[in-house]
Amino acid sequence: MVQHAERYRGRFAPSPSGPLHAGSLVAALGSYLDARAHQGEWFVRIEDIDPPREVPGAADTILRQLESHGLHWDGDVVWQSQQTPRYQRAIAELSTAQRCYHCDCTRAQIKRRGTNYDGHCRNRQLQDQYTAIRFLNTHPLQHFHDRFHGHIQCQPSATEDFILRRRDQLWAYQLAVVCDDRAAGVTDIVRGEDLLHASTWQLTLWQALNDIQFDAKTVPLPRLAHLPLVRGRDGRKLSKQNHAPALDAETALDNLMAAGRQLGLSRPETEGFIRVEEYLTWAIDTWRALKK
Ligand code: GLU
Ligand code: ZN
Repeated sequence: MVQHAERYRGRFAPSPSGPLHAGSLVAALGSYLDARAHQGEWFVRIEDIDPPREVPGAADTILRQLESHGLHWDGDVVWQSQQTPRYQRAIAELSTAQRCYHCDCTRAQIKRRGTNYDGHCRNRQLQDQYTAIRFLNTHPLQHFHDRFHGHIQCQPSATEDFILRRRDQLWAYQLAVVCDDRAAGVTDIVRGEDLLHASTWQLTLWQALNDIQFDAKTVPLPRLAHLPLVRGRDGRKLSKQNHAPALDAETALDNLMAAGRQLGLSRPETEGFIRVEEYLTWAIDTWRALKK
């Protein structure tokens, strides 16, 4: 494992596609506890780069829900919708370094040719602005380490030239998340298990930005820790799409204790916490002992 000289810097990065529910609270609490257990900082970033999927007011609701659950963040909230210049610069510099290219393939065309994108446009020198931009993935990652999952062998899609900017001109999640985590000097990513394999592309891109000295710096690759997914009774992931109910501030303490149990924190010995702060103090200490 890479040893980080710097202080722990973690984050929670919700998309404003709906309010927090029991599943997203597990991700929020897990990343919060891990940061605080390491005497680290914990930042919040609203990933609002996909207007069609955004629900008006959801970002503010999420921030209020975090506060009512005692999950107070450090510094200012970062809004991805305000980071456009950074994404533009990243694309421009990757382009200069010949690490990305335009692609006008449709989904149907790609599918007809195989499961993963086959690099069809690599040498076509397209310039059209109404195309997708893909990362030229010449050094795909083979495996990586996750603190909770151990050794991870990358999936075949690891070798794909993944998308940095979509055909509809929206920034791809991979580009935005890596640019922003790297800019914030994030040392530790703690998030849901559904994003475990997205880490492959993200680490690859992070390394490429280091290689081209983007923002004139090298930032050590982050440590990763993917948390178990919360499933509903039907076995499906709890999600906004499955209409998981929004967290109710009135039951903040119960919500936190339920999320803590999902994270493997047993019932507190001293029962009868009355305030979320007391529970969180106990949970930080317990996490520190359990998950070093
Ligand atoms: N915004 C992403 C989501 O809500 C999470 C991004 C991340 O933690 O890297 O699923
Ligand atoms: Zn193409």
